[in-house]
Amino acid sequence: MTDAGGTAAAPRGPLAEGERVLLVDHHDRRYLIRLARGASFQSHAGVVEHDALIGQPEGSEVSAWRRDGREGPARRFLAVRPTLADVIVKMPRGAQVIYPKDLGAIVVAADLFPGARVLEAGVGSGALSMTALRAGCQVTGYELREDFARRARANVAELLGPEAPFRVEERDVYEGIDETGLDRVLLDLPEPWRVVEHAERALVPGGILVAYLPSITQAAELRAQLGRASFALAETFEILRRTWHIEGRSVRPDHRMVAHTGFITTARRVVARAAESETVDEV
Ligand code: SAH
Repeated sequence: MTDAGGTAAAPRGPLAEGERVLLVDHHDRRYLIRLARGASFQSHAGVVEHDALIGQPEGSEVSAWRRDGREGPARRFLAVRPTLADVIVKMPRGAQVIYPKDLGAIVVAADLFPGARVLEAGVGSGALSMTALRAGCQVTGYELREDFARRARANVAELLGPEAPFRVEERDVYEGIDETGLDRVLLDLPEPWRVVEHAERALVPGGILVAYLPSITQAAELRAQLGRASFALAETFEILRRTWHIEGRSVRPDHRMVAHTGFITTARRVVARAAESETVDEV
């Protein structure tokens, strides 16, 4: 794709053939489509011709034609390029993905930086992989399941193109990590404490381990194992994201929110064992 039509790295300019576009209806229902000449998008509200979108500026509205040919108010869709979060909630998944609110926190907690050498396990559908790649990291993934590995590769290629620095190996991270000199190890699997020893060897001093876990007892078990290894500055936290309803004078928190997704634990690889100092919080 040319610059004028937007690329995976720099999505700007008029909407171009081959790009993904998010269509949003008046009920905030969202549909992810890929623009192709001559194609049409069918929905409850009618048919949107892709040709009506190609060449339009992002943020345009398009009308849907009613399929039954009857007269009636034309339904309109807003067309924007999808954000990373839009893609993640819409993409095909085998495994549960990490929610965007947690992915954002992981970027900062893991201090992901351009060029960082990252090992990620398990890869699942690739939501965390996409986030780390977007932050400029070079990602090697270990994934047990061949079908998930394939899905993740496809999802990453769809978002970032086939050249993204992403490699997935079908293997069990509990058995070891071959890479050395890693800057970051990102874990989203049931027993991350079984990876601590491997991560200890694979990470550079000062490197960061991040684990995402649904249950606090798992986080406690991981923390105990980190305390026995050359890791310090361990922290465990969760992200509560509460959206607000803002309409005229009705300004209040939304009635519903996602109360629980997962706990994020981080720790730094240090030179010496730091079992005593690890838990002392000097203020
Ligand atoms: N973080 C991913 C989701 C990961 S789901 C995302 O955001 O999309 C957990 C994944 O870990 C599953 O795909 C599972 O197959 C994989 N897994 C579980 N144990 C593993 C192990 N020991 N080694 C490698 N992968 C493992």
